[in-house]
Amino acid sequence: MKRIVVKVGSNVLTRDDGKLDVTRMSAIVDQIVWMKRNGFEVILVSSGAMACGRDELKVNRKLDSVGQRQLYSAIGQVKLVGLYYDLFREYNMHVGQVLTMKDSFSTRGEYLNQRACMTVMLENNVIPIVNENDTVSVTELMFTDNDELSGLIASMMDADTLIILSNVDGIFNGDPKSSNTRVIPLVNYDRDLGEYIQDSKSGFGRGGMITKTNIAKKVAEEGIRVIIANGKTNNILIDIATKPQETMHTEFRPNPNPASQVKKWIAHSESFAKGIIHINKNAEDALKGDKAVSLLLVGVTSIEGDFEENDIINVVGSNNDIIAVGRSGYSASEAKENIGVHDLKPLIHYDYLYMEQ
Ligand code: GLU
Repeated sequence: MKRIVVKVGSNVLTRDDGKLDVTRMSAIVDQIVWMKRNGFEVILVSSGAMACGRDELKVNRKLDSVGQRQLYSAIGQVKLVGLYYDLFREYNMHVGQVLTMKDSFSTRGEYLNQRACMTVMLENNVIPIVNENDTVSVTELMFTDNDELSGLIASMMDADTLIILSNVDGIFNGDPKSSNTRVIPLVNYDRDLGEYIQDSKSGFGRGGMITKTNIAKKVAEEGIRVIIANGKTNNILIDIATKPQETMHTEFRPNPNPASQVKKWIAHSESFAKGIIHINKNAEDALKGDKAVSLLLVGVTSIEGDFEENDIINVVGSNNDIIAVGRSGYSASEAKENIGVHDLKPLIHYDYLYMEQ
């Protein structure tokens, strides 16, 4: 059975005036029902809580951005999930709410716990409806947007496909407003699209095209097909499934040799790193080479941070960019004592090392 993660952006669920577009929401639900009936397992990552909440309530005191987020998402999420509940119930389908936070992915144990939660829902034919827990998320530790969240969910749940529905038709090969640009139908996961992407955010969501493309590439690199399409186009999900050639969208072709499950978790863990490892040029060249190598202490020049064995650490190259993320085989103090020493077990074993692209 094919497992699909469908991410629906706030822009899809709201009208131009910011009000919730219940007709569109209902059309998306109809299409997900079609997918379920045609043998797909579906996980829905839905934004729109804030937009829903803003529409519900007029406040008489000016709120700062955190207060607005907390208030609007608290009331909006209830409305959003309530509507989904009613719409799916018409088809006798069960939905369940999963509210999560970036921090809930920071240890392998928490990650596996969330995976177990969604697995038990799917086994019981319940459609998980996932959103960030915006009410209690701490600003600095939030997901960039729900695109990032949907990528993590697709990777964690070993999805076949992630479909990101936004209010654009895909990735354009130029200015979307110009008449001679078109949507790029197919790109390989490792293709650089920098020349085409504009950093414009539109409407009510947090995400822009740059994050969408970065997430799409990362997830496709993990072996998952990613599709960016316009959620405002009628029947878009059904058309992508039944007549992809005739349907406007961008598909990121997945890496045929994806990393292991553990590496997938590590790939999304850069921001949870507890330490920074600086390495010498030889070690950097070895890591970036074609062979599968582990990071050894002999190649380390300095270590920052205070971490325990099994914590996530970032590896920094000569120009101070993060070149790899991995799970440490040592505590920070043990590793610092052994900087430059030969013939010890690796600081990061290859199986727990993810190279940034
Ligand atoms: N979690 C936010 C909401 O439900 C949306 C974040 C985003 O726009 O990606 O309103």
